Amino acid sequence: MFAQKKQTASKATNDTHATKRPNIVIIVSDDHAYQAISAYGGGLMQTPNIDRIAKAGARFDKAYVTNSICGPSRAVILTGKYSHKNGFRDNESSVFNGSQDSFIKQLRSSGYETAWIGKWHLQSDPQGFNYWQILPDQGDYYNPDFDMMDGTKKRFDGYVTNVISDVSEEWLDKRDESKPFCLVIGHKATHRVWLPDTTDLGKFDQTTFPLPANFYDTYQTRKGAEMQDMSIEKTMLMGYDLKMFGSKEKKDQDGNFKRMNPAQRARVDAYYNPIESELNALKLEGKALTEWKYQRYMRDYLSTAASLDRNIGRTLDYLDEHGLSENTIVIYLSDQGFYMGEHGWFDKRWMYEESFRTPMVMRYPGMVKPGTVSDRLVMNLDLAPTLLDAANVPIPKDMQGLSMLPALMNKDDEGREAIYYHYYENGEHSVSPHFGVRTKRYKLIRLYERVEGWELYDLEKDPSEMANIYGKKGYEKITANLRKELMRQIVKLQDQDALKILKQKL
Ligand code: CA
Repeated sequence: MFAQKKQTASKATNDTHATKRPNIVIIVSDDHAYQAISAYGGGLMQTPNIDRIAKAGARFDKAYVTNSICGPSRAVILTGKYSHKNGFRDNESSVFNGSQDSFIKQLRSSGYETAWIGKWHLQSDPQGFNYWQILPDQGDYYNPDFDMMDGTKKRFDGYVTNVISDVSEEWLDKRDESKPFCLVIGHKATHRVWLPDTTDLGKFDQTTFPLPANFYDTYQTRKGAEMQDMSIEKTMLMGYDLKMFGSKEKKDQDGNFKRMNPAQRARVDAYYNPIESELNALKLEGKALTEWKYQRYMRDYLSTAASLDRNIGRTLDYLDEHGLSENTIVIYLSDQGFYMGEHGWFDKRWMYEESFRTPMVMRYPGMVKPGTVSDRLVMNLDLAPTLLDAANVPIPKDMQGLSMLPALMNKDDEGREAIYYHYYENGEHSVSPHFGVRTKRYKLIRLYERVEGWELYDLEKDPSEMANIYGKKGYEKITANLRKELMRQIVKLQDQDALKILKQKL
């Protein structure tokens, strides 16, 4: 059924686009929350450049990930397949098998010039690219090392977000102009430890951020959430995360500070040292200390995001200045969402909205109407088929995502009724593995291994997911339907591990 839809969409393509295939720029950030993007109305800060993409194209208000964590999300984007199919399930022991198919390989064999620059995090060298230059593992904020295509490691002076933009522009300058291109820019920002560029230090110091309504969540009715270790209060570190080390010696030993040159270090110290002196004088404890941590977290995180947005603007300016904007698809998304203090948390992993949902905006001049706002259920899984669709390359049958183009161009297309999620890690931050299904109104979650149990949320009545209503009177029919839908998704997507768990009585 879907193949037919795709053909209709391709036929709708006008002649110019059919003959001149679009260039593609995908900007993937890390841990960037939609709450921190002004296009989404978050109100925490202005992000004029991400907003530029949304205004010129589409903003997806219900964009989700299949597995809310760094490496797995990138593997899903590349392959258009769930973690259980592409093999990269977690950041602990997975190594991406680069010999498998990807939309990049498909584009390249159909004549595209391809590159990935920046954060990669898949534990094996990229395959299928004309050029790649990647941060080893998480990479560093200051003077980052890169793994180069020729097998060498090279250190670049400067702040990582600027460096990744520089390298991307250099690649665009040198590319084969006779071919369309697909460039993936993988930013490290805004990953922990939220270390801003020196020019952005203190940018939000005049702002006091309101605590989210559920900042002091006590996790009643949610056993998994109760067992977690990702709270601002208990988990966030004063040194590593918030740069309050207690002594110069400890700071000198910190990997992020060690890398700075004397000029960078002097500027960073000039910012953080007075804050630490003030903190020492305040002698805070209890809630006062937790709330102080929250304000510091917000200020560092948003300052780091300011550089991200500015550099996205640089990339857009480059396209403008080189006459490329009209024939280039630009997509901005994060590898997943992030907690900005909701439930008292930072980090991600959960199928709860703040981490399950990801910001995603896309412009495609001539094809997607400026100012489009879409509330269809879409996923990072859909990027690969969408871009192949746009490039007029047949979508391989084993890709599990759907092209977003038919829905974007045909308002009557309602899109999916439900989406499936599966998180595997059972280590860092003590988040239990879980899988589940989300419909437009409800969410059903099955936790396993660390916590065995079910959760059900009515997102219309309880958008913050504070009350697990699984097993509550009056929800029998809804639960039965959702369990049926979950089974349907698991069978369709061939998730054998989840199927085994679902067959257990609980
Ligand atoms: Ca991430």
